[in-house]
Amino acid sequence: MGHPAILTVDDDASVSRAIARDLRRRYGEAYRIIRAASAAEALEALKELKLRGGRVAVILADYRMPQMNGIEFLEQAMDLFPHARRALLTAYADTDAAIQAINVVDVDHYLLKPWDPPEEKLYPVIDALLDAWQATGDREVTDIRVVGHRWSEPSYQIRDFLARNLVPYKWLAADDPEGRRLLEAAGVGPESIPLVVTADGRAMAQPTPSEVAEAAGLSTAPERDFYDLIIVGGGPAGLGAAVYGASEGLKTLLVERQAVGGQAGQSSRIENYLGFPDGISGAQLTDRARRQAGKFSAEVLNTREVVGLRADGSARTLRFADGGEISAHSIVLATGVAYRPLAAAGVAELTGSGVYYGSAATEGPSCAGSDVYIIGGANSAGQAALFFARYARSVTLLVRGDSLEASMSYYLIQQLNKIDNVHVRTRCEVVGAQGNGHLQAITICDSKNNTVTSVECGYLFVFIGAEPRTDWLGGAVARDEKGFVYTGPDLLTNGTRPAGWDRDRDPFYLECSVPGIFAAGDVRANSVKRVASAVGEGAMAVTLVHRYLEAQ
Ligand SMILES: Cc1cc2nc3c(=O)[nH]c(=O)nc-3n(C[C@H](O)[C@H](O)[C@H](O)COP(=O)(O)OP(=O)(O)OC[C@H]3O[C@@H](n4cnc5c(N)ncnc54)[C@H](O)[C@@H]3O)c2cc1C
Repeated sequence: MGHPAILTVDDDASVSRAIARDLRRRYGEAYRIIRAASAAEALEALKELKLRGGRVAVILADYRMPQMNGIEFLEQAMDLFPHARRALLTAYADTDAAIQAINVVDVDHYLLKPWDPPEEKLYPVIDALLDAWQATGDREVTDIRVVGHRWSEPSYQIRDFLARNLVPYKWLAADDPEGRRLLEAAGVGPESIPLVVTADGRAMAQPTPSEVAEAAGLSTAPERDFYDLIIVGGGPAGLGAAVYGASEGLKTLLVERQAVGGQAGQSSRIENYLGFPDGISGAQLTDRARRQAGKFSAEVLNTREVVGLRADGSARTLRFADGGEISAHSIVLATGVAYRPLAAAGVAELTGSGVYYGSAATEGPSCAGSDVYIIGGANSAGQAALFFARYARSVTLLVRGDSLEASMSYYLIQQLNKIDNVHVRTRCEVVGAQGNGHLQAITICDSKNNTVTSVECGYLFVFIGAEPRTDWLGGAVARDEKGFVYTGPDLLTNGTRPAGWDRDRDPFYLECSVPGIFAAGDVRANSVKRVASAVGEGAMAVTLVHRYLEAQ
């Protein structure tokens, strides 16, 4: 981003030019000198700078300007850049203006025009203003900024989207002074949150994930209309297939509807993945895998949901939610699973405002000092408990079963037992959630003690099993009664191949009921629900794609 700015505004063109010339001569190398011919023009320039994350060190304003005088202008300029040092310029000693300037806008200096020679009369004043600004001034902002409300579901969605896609951003509450300044600079009110301001100063009120993805430099449109291999889903299985496919020379496209990394991307620490003896966070693993796929020139499409699949002769065609289509010689379905919704009164309304599915790592720091509840007894819930225990006053795991032992790995149970602020309640279910605008309490049914109680609760994280959500496949490929996709040997009934199968071979191990369409990872019927197996199946699917293509 550039140098900090010194802005001068004077309606007399010749004076304005002279000031800018003198300033440029001395400060032009380290500062950007901006000249405006009216208060309105200067305010526009300041708003643009604010949106671009720029910094303003000094503002010099002429006192006598039509429409808006220098003091009125500085008052508005301060709303945008409160740390900029301020000086008022007048043509003659005007005591009233000086007193008003000091009282209203706490002006730092009062400069008399003309100031020849500037070395004596102008530069010492500006030097002092710059010294003062450097001690307290704004820092440069180069990240995307999001202005929103802590309990607003759309604001949460944008933060979660950016965090899960590993895009650095700065979060500002709409009632925080800097948040207010950005809303003002964008010309919108708090009702327009979330406001996303890009590094180059573009302001977007209530943007769609796709707009945010584009602004963050994440690709949303395919470069070709036909590929060797398209992978649907960017979790470990999809990323594994993308790395192997692209590295072996296949023109490979990976399509992801939400955030690359999938479920694994949400894990705070994966401790059982081969090669990482100290564990690795889902975000780190995702970042590495994404870079690796990019290194081999796999294309990644973000925020694009696939809603249809059909075989067109030898081509396999996918339809996007927005109506577009894309085709390839072969497809790998790696759409994993998604959390099952918690069916308890009040939960749907408070989702995103205190109730979250998955670990919502963005909420970690906000949980400081709160009592956090986590529903679930599997490893994912255990990892979340370890993560939130670092921030929260207490973390309570609510488990439906009799004990954790049946559902959670031994190493996690051992770790949880050692943490004082983690509690486990078995045979408990959440039957209601209450709150005005955000979660404030939950109702717990405890079947061990036969009680139904309401407890204060600001954060509830839900990890209650998952479902494949493959309805969009319809009858395109064979699935089991829960929606998991059948592959390979599972498709053979007493040695008979699936209906419509037109090859004189059995389906390959990860191949679906239609040749050239494969499934890998959690979405596959009877798969092992683990990161390592998903990555392995992604890699293996590519080998089978090669075999399929060779026989075409
Ligand atoms: C919090 C948590 C912690 C875990 N910890 C561990 C652990 O420590 N060790 C371990 O081995 N396993 C762990 N697991 C399990 C592991 O993460 C999963 O088994 C693994 O992620 C499965 O990978 P996948 O690629 O098959 O599916 P997923 O990870 O579910 O990825 C599927 C992807 O497909 C996308 N998608 C779905 N439908 C569409 C569509 N129609 N169009 C476009 N994209 C779509 C989804 O948005 C998602 O990104 C954990 C899971 C969770 C939730």
